[in-house]
Amino acid sequence: MTSFIETRLRDALAPFWPDCAAIGSHVAGRIALGAGELITIDDPATGAPLYAYRDAGEAVVAEAAAATSAAQAGWSRLTGAARGRVVQAIARAIQGKAEELARLESLSAGKPIRDTRVEVAKVAEMFEYYAGWADKFHGDVIPVPSSHLNYTRREAVGVVLQITPWNAPIFTCGWQVAPAIAMGNGVLLKPSELTPLTSMAVALLAEQAGLPAGLVNVLAGYGHTTGQAALGQPAVKKVVFVGSVPTGRLIAEAAAKRLLPCVLELGGKSANIVFADADLARAAIGAQSAIFAGAGQSCVAGSRLLVERSVYDRFVKMVADGAAKLKVGAPGAADTEVGPINNARQYVRVLTMVKQGLAEGATLATGSDGSMGKGGFFVAPTVLRDVSNSMAVARDEIFGPVAAAIPFDSEGEAIALANDSEFGLAGAVWTSDVARAHRVAAQVRAGTFWINSYKTISVASPFGGFGMSGYGRSSGVETLFEYTQVKSVWVETAAEPAVGFGYAPGI
Ligand code: NAD
Repeated sequence: MTSFIETRLRDALAPFWPDCAAIGSHVAGRIALGAGELITIDDPATGAPLYAYRDAGEAVVAEAAAATSAAQAGWSRLTGAARGRVVQAIARAIQGKAEELARLESLSAGKPIRDTRVEVAKVAEMFEYYAGWADKFHGDVIPVPSSHLNYTRREAVGVVLQITPWNAPIFTCGWQVAPAIAMGNGVLLKPSELTPLTSMAVALLAEQAGLPAGLVNVLAGYGHTTGQAALGQPAVKKVVFVGSVPTGRLIAEAAAKRLLPCVLELGGKSANIVFADADLARAAIGAQSAIFAGAGQSCVAGSRLLVERSVYDRFVKMVADGAAKLKVGAPGAADTEVGPINNARQYVRVLTMVKQGLAEGATLATGSDGSMGKGGFFVAPTVLRDVSNSMAVARDEIFGPVAAAIPFDSEGEAIALANDSEFGLAGAVWTSDVARAHRVAAQVRAGTFWINSYKTISVASPFGGFGMSGYGRSSGVETLFEYTQVKSVWVETAAEPAVGFGYAPGI
């Protein structure tokens, strides 16, 4: 295979792959090379090529699906407690390689090291949390007439295909893999072609920690080739997709043809609402982290900043002044707060959207005017003011460090503006009026809502979208319903057998 690996990546990979040239798909406990097109990945910080690998392709996908299916049959027969012990061991293995994983994620995804350290710690927490559930999420005995006993079993779905995006590769891997395997499923994981490495590293660590070889198989490659091939595998019984709305629609259509159930975790255009009575200093810091953390490449980014008109000028200036002070820099530097955009295509999209906003009448409070920089995909934290909710920068997901500040005059208008979006992933309100805070939280259509906070998350709390932001839920106990199916078992206990064709002839 023609593969080149830049030295820094070779160093970052060495703890996981002593032979770093062999990057490919992960089949049945070994690193297998894909057979398809050569995929070249650029370093987000420099724009120069970082490494290349081959698209998994159809044959590798079929081999992986067979391996995962075989491993899942045995895994699902283990007791929950036995599975939980392995999932707990994976958490410890991740903790043991936390710094190495954080560095690998930072380098290959372009995320600041201070953020990837937190993300890796959260991934370990996810495995810990679902290890605890492995023997506690079970069926029930249902009260029915005394002639019968009825109980339910919570059974694994089987092999689940998980397709994930580039903006939070290791986070989405842990988020979906941990509950899936805790409940007895096997996983075919198709990470973004742009960021497959940390998912593969987690799969390797999991096997070293005792997970059956091949139970989690990572398929590195493009969506239209490897992703589509995975969707066609008969072994796949459910699809969990995390990504954009247009791809989500394609996945749901393909899944519908096979009547495969889907969970869709899609994009957002979340409203961050600031009232004049809020603690403005705290709200300004919250507004910055809402949109500039992860360089805005976050599904829950607070990209629409709705501000009460009486404090609009003052507050927008506070956010812009703070944005201008954020440290933009190399992902591996300890003090970097905002790293580059992950890839060239997304970089151009962010700049194009800024230009479009300015052309439609928005003005630049701080940051980029949409001009291309030199070397690396960096975009300065940007605040656009004088934005109306009908402009493209307020309607479309930019997925970059660009806040669109929109004024409002009343609580009703703020809620109406927040809901005037096809998305419904998240939102927030900043106010010192506790009654208003709860009124707004109840009326904004979004799967997650924060009061005087932004981006607080926990593996114990459910997460998912309203509207075009998707359906189904991840995280918390809710995701365990997604990763199991319920079976109702009836036992006749009457002394005299039932006569006829049963009790519900109409079914
Ligand atoms: P994307 O939709 O382009 O790609 C997501 C995944 O789908 C990738 O693995 C890709 O290879 C695969 N894919 C693409 N075309 C495919 C096809 N035809 N068949 C099968 N698979 C295919 O998204 P992205 O650009 O990687 O990620 C950014 C998007 O993800 C944003 O919209 C963001 O909001 C969203 N996101 C949502 C959440 C959430 O939980 N709601 C979390 C993170 C990111």
